[in-house]
Amino acid sequence: MQLTNRSKMVSNKEQSLSERLYLPAILKGMSITMSHLFKKKVTIDFPEKERPRAPVYRGQHVLKRDEKGAERCTACGLCAVACPAEAITMESAERKKGEEHLYREEKYARIYEINMLRCIFCGLCEEACPKEAIFLTDRIVDAEYERGDFVYGKDKLVESKDNTGKIDVSTRQTAEVAEFKKVPGLKHNTLFENKQLKEKH
Ligand code: SF4
Ligand code: SF4
Repeated sequence: MQLTNRSKMVSNKEQSLSERLYLPAILKGMSITMSHLFKKKVTIDFPEKERPRAPVYRGQHVLKRDEKGAERCTACGLCAVACPAEAITMESAERKKGEEHLYREEKYARIYEINMLRCIFCGLCEEACPKEAIFLTDRIVDAEYERGDFVYGKDKLVESKDNTGKIDVSTRQTAEVAEFKKVPGLKHNTLFENKQLKEKH
């Protein structure tokens, strides 16, 4: 039974002599190749040269620190809930006395991992985060030989402490984005509101 109309009848007609020699097909292919030799190059010599990217390009993530250098992420898990690719996993831990300079809130992500092979760079984790902790940047994820090396942990995700390693996310942290995060009814906002309510009681 035919379920779709996508199937095509295959022709079994015998090939002519010229088709069997493949010469016309080879010449046609060569003529296409030659015609491209005189056109403007569309390839660039990456990594020596980089193609300009849009200011809102969504590349490798960064876990931001606050102005005092403490990690902003509080391991609430909203980014993982919002992630359609289930690329984010984390384990939370409680902040101990004396660790206030390391972690901004009482709870922090002891382990935070993103599988870059699963990630589709949609940016929903960034939109879901109520702590302005995770942002996508214009950095490109490195090529690796092993699949396991694409699972990025905190060592690769957390912004470095010194000023030279700070990552500017101002193009993504606009007033419009802040307003959008307050829109009632968005799934992650509702989850956050419920979570806040629970914490209060
Ligand atoms: S960018 Fe999208 S797919 Fe990638 S980790 Fe964030 S929510 Fe998941
Ligand atoms: S939503 Fe933000 S604060 Fe919550 S776990 Fe994700 S990065 Fe951390």
